[in-house]
Amino acid sequence: MADLRTPSGMNPREPRPSDRRPGEKRPGPFGAGGRPAGTIWWVLGFLLLMAVGQAYFLAPAGQAVSYSEFKQAVRSGQVAEVTVGEQTISGQYKKETNGGRSFNTNRIEDPKLVEDLDAAGVKYAGEFVSRWLPEILGWIVPLVLLFALWSFFFRRMGGAEGGVMSFARSKHKVFAEDDVKITFADVAGVDEAEQELREIVEFLKTPRKYTVLGGKIPKGVLLVGPPGTGKTLLAKAVAGEAKVPFFSLSGSEFVEMFVGVGAARVRDLFQQAEAKAPCIIFIDELDALGRARQQSPMGSHEEREQTLNQLLAEMDGFDSHKAIIIMAATNRPEVLDPALLRPGRFDRQVLVDKPDVKGREQVLRIHTKTVKLAPEVELRKVAARTAGFAGADLANLVNEAALLAARKDKPAVQPTDFDEAIDRLIAGLEKKRVMSTKEREIVAYHEAGHAIVATRLPGMDPVHKISIVQRGFGALGYTMQLPLEDRYLMQRIDLQHQLAVLFGGRTAEEIALGEISTGAQNDLQRASDLARAMVTEWGMSDSLGAIAYETGKRSRFLDIPLGPERGVYAEETARLIDAEVKRILTEAHDLARRLLHESRESLETVTRQLLKQEVMEGHELRALLGVPEPVMDSEQGTAPLPPELR
Ligand code: ADP
Ligand code: ZN
Ligand code: MG
Repeated sequence: MADLRTPSGMNPREPRPSDRRPGEKRPGPFGAGGRPAGTIWWVLGFLLLMAVGQAYFLAPAGQAVSYSEFKQAVRSGQVAEVTVGEQTISGQYKKETNGGRSFNTNRIEDPKLVEDLDAAGVKYAGEFVSRWLPEILGWIVPLVLLFALWSFFFRRMGGAEGGVMSFARSKHKVFAEDDVKITFADVAGVDEAEQELREIVEFLKTPRKYTVLGGKIPKGVLLVGPPGTGKTLLAKAVAGEAKVPFFSLSGSEFVEMFVGVGAARVRDLFQQAEAKAPCIIFIDELDALGRARQQSPMGSHEEREQTLNQLLAEMDGFDSHKAIIIMAATNRPEVLDPALLRPGRFDRQVLVDKPDVKGREQVLRIHTKTVKLAPEVELRKVAARTAGFAGADLANLVNEAALLAARKDKPAVQPTDFDEAIDRLIAGLEKKRVMSTKEREIVAYHEAGHAIVATRLPGMDPVHKISIVQRGFGALGYTMQLPLEDRYLMQRIDLQHQLAVLFGGRTAEEIALGEISTGAQNDLQRASDLARAMVTEWGMSDSLGAIAYETGKRSRFLDIPLGPERGVYAEETARLIDAEVKRILTEAHDLARRLLHESRESLETVTRQLLKQEVMEGHELRALLGVPEPVMDSEQGTAPLPPELR
C-alpha cells in the first residue's frame, strides 16, 4: 500500500528492493549448452586404447612358467635358447624334448644364471630394448592431445561461423506453432490486458487496414506482471485468436556459453519469422536476456550483450509492413535495459495483474470446466477466500481439490475439498506473502484514506482506481489518480493538498485502527521529498524566502535521485530548512486528519466496500461519497477520459 500512484508512479519499471533476488541464476562460463563432458569421454577412450595397445605390443609371448621351473629346465637341458630382458626372460625349449615351444618367466636376481646357461650349453643373449615406443607415448602423444584439445576449445570460443556454431544453432531450431488452440476464452481476470491485446489481434488479422493510411503496426508488446498471472497464456491466446504462427523462445535460451551463438539464434529467428509473416514472436522471461547492459566488476557479460544488441538491431531492422509482432513477458521489468523500452521496440507495456475477486471466480470457472463439482460448490466463495492468488495458483488449487476428493473416493469435488486445498496452498504460499485478514483490513483503510482525501480536496487529480489486490511490485495496494489535463505548473496550494493526500493513508489507519503500520513508508518518503523540494528548490517557504538551495538533484532522463548530495548552505540554514519541512508536513498531516474525521463514516463505507470487491473504480468511489463526476476542461483534449466517459 506504499504508494499513491500517479500516472508516473504507474510505471512498473521503478526498481524496488523486494524484487531483487540474491541467488540469481546466471549463465556461468560453463553454463547450459557447453559440452566439455563429451570431450572428456573422447580423451578417456583414447587413453584406454593406448593402454590396451601397449599391453598387446609389449607383452612377452609364450607360456608363462615360474623361475624355478625355468631353472630346472635349463639344468635338465631342455632349453635351446634364451633372451634375457630387463624384467623378463623369454626363450625356446629344444625341439626334441618340448617341441620347440616358447616360454617366458619373470627374471629374479640370480648371479649364477649365466654359469648355469653356459653349463647347459644354451644360446643366450641380452634383449635389445627398443626405445621409440615409450618415447612416443611419453612425449608426442600428450603434445598432440594438448593441441587437439586447445584447438577444439579455441574454435568453440572463437566465435567463428561454421563448425560448432552451426551445430549449436541447428540444435535449438525454433519451430513455429502454426495452429494455436488457446483463445481469450481460456484467460480470465485480466480484462484490461485482454482489451489491449485485442487490438494487437486486429493488427495481425488485417494488417492492410492499418497500414494503408501510412500507419505503422506496433512492433513490440511487453507483458509485465507477477509470476503465474497468465502472461504466457495471453501471448498464446493472441496467436490463437489471430490464427497466426507462434514462435516462442525463452530469454534464457538465447544466452549461451559462447559468444555469438545467441546473436546467431536471434538472426535465425527473425529470418524464419519474416518468411511466415504475419506471425508472433514471443520471448518469455525477457529479463534473462534483456537485463540492463552495464560495466560490472566481474567483467562484462559479453554474450548476453551481443545477443541483446542483435535483438535490438533486428527489431529496428525488420520491415514494419510485415505484421510481425514481437511479444515478450517478464516479471521483473525494472531490470530491463532501457533501450528495449524505447519507441519502436517494446514501447507498449501491458500490465497483467493478479485477479480481483470477480476475476478469480472466472478463472476458477475456466479451470473447473473439466472437473466434476458437487452442486453445493460455490466458486464465488472459493474466490473470496483466495485473495492474493494468481491464475496459476488457482489452477493449482482446482487440481489439488480434485486430487483430494479422488483420494477419498468421492464421486465429485466438494466444498470441503476446496477448503482443505486452500489451507494447504496458503501454507505453501506463506513464503510468497499472502495477506492475512488483518493486513487486508489495514491496507483497505489505508487506501480508502488516500482516496477520500484526494476526492475531498479541490484541484486534485480525480481518483481513477483503488485496489487492495497485492501486486508483484512490492505494493500491497494502490490508489491511482489520473490527471484531467496535462499539468505544467503546480501551485503551492496544490502541493500542500498533494501532501495531505500522501498522508491520507497513514492518517486513516490512525483514526480507524488507533495504530499505524509500516505500510506508509513510501508515502512518507515521497511526502518528505516533496516538502523538502518546496523549501529548497521552489522557494515556497515564507521564512526561508525565494532562494534555491538545491539545484539539479535529479538525473535528467531517469527519475532516480542522485544520492544524498547537499547544496552549499550554512548549518544554521540546514536547521531552518528541517524546521520548515517539518512544519509543512505537520500541516499536511493535520489537514488530512481533519478531512478524515469529517468523513469518518465514508471511510468506513469505502473500506468495507473495498474489502468486499478489492478493486474500486473512481466513479464507484464518487458515488459512495456523493461527489459529482469531474468534467474535463473542454479545450484540453489530450487528457485520458475517466472510464465511464469512454
Ligand atoms: P506467467 O507466464 O504469467 O507466469 P502462465 O501463463 O505461465 O503465467 O500461467 C500458468 C498457468 O496458470 C496457465 O497455463 C493457466 O493454466 C493458469 N493461468 C494463469 N493465469 C490465468 C488466467 N488469467 N486465466 C486462466 N488461467 C490462468
Ligand atoms: Zn499509501
Ligand atoms: Mg510465463
